[in-house]
Amino acid sequence: MADEREGTPGCGYVALGANLGDPSAMLARATSALDGPGLRVLGRARLFRTRPVGPIPQPDFLNTVVEVESTLSPLELLDRLLQIETTLGRVRAERWGPRLIDLDLLALGTAQVQTPRLTLPHPELARRAFVLVPWAELAPGFVVPGTGRTVAQLLAALAPGPDEVIPLP
Ligand code: ATP
Ligand code: CA
Ligand code: CA
Repeated sequence: MADEREGTPGCGYVALGANLGDPSAMLARATSALDGPGLRVLGRARLFRTRPVGPIPQPDFLNTVVEVESTLSPLELLDRLLQIETTLGRVRAERWGPRLIDLDLLALGTAQVQTPRLTLPHPELARRAFVLVPWAELAPGFVVPGTGRTVAQLLAALAPGPDEVIPLP
């Protein structure tokens, strides 16, 4: 399904994460909110339960990845994601802390962007099983700009492996 669109200019991927309140409801609401002017949801991976990364003790996350088709510029799309986070009640506290909803732009077509507000593709994606596992389910053949690798290849190269990323039944 995704294969024909992978790599077309307006095809993007958004990583969703939540670990406060009702995470699966937050992911559903965020996915619905992504459908709007200039932006359409084409597909979604399953939901995965993952262990939090970093120094702050906090509940497990639910994560997924959504495929979108967009006529927005990368910065317009970032602004839309931040706006949806705010609408859904996210209050920005410490980085890597617990959050009601987190929407990260992984990639948008072949765009490579390096500005203070936006880095594309997302700089951490190749190190994160909680991103690559759902993404590989959705678009294994997508070539991540700047890496020369597909999502499936990046996942295969990840050490020590995706064992902490568990699909919800
Ligand atoms: P990480 O980006 O490592 O996953 P985070 O998601 O916890 O960390 P946030 O506090 O949600 O970080 O976002 C901080 C800022 O990151 C945002 O205000 C945004 O300007 C910036 N940013 C840069 N590149 C991206 C991107 N590709 N997707 C989303 N935000 C980005
Ligand atoms: Ca994030
Ligand atoms: Ca974020």
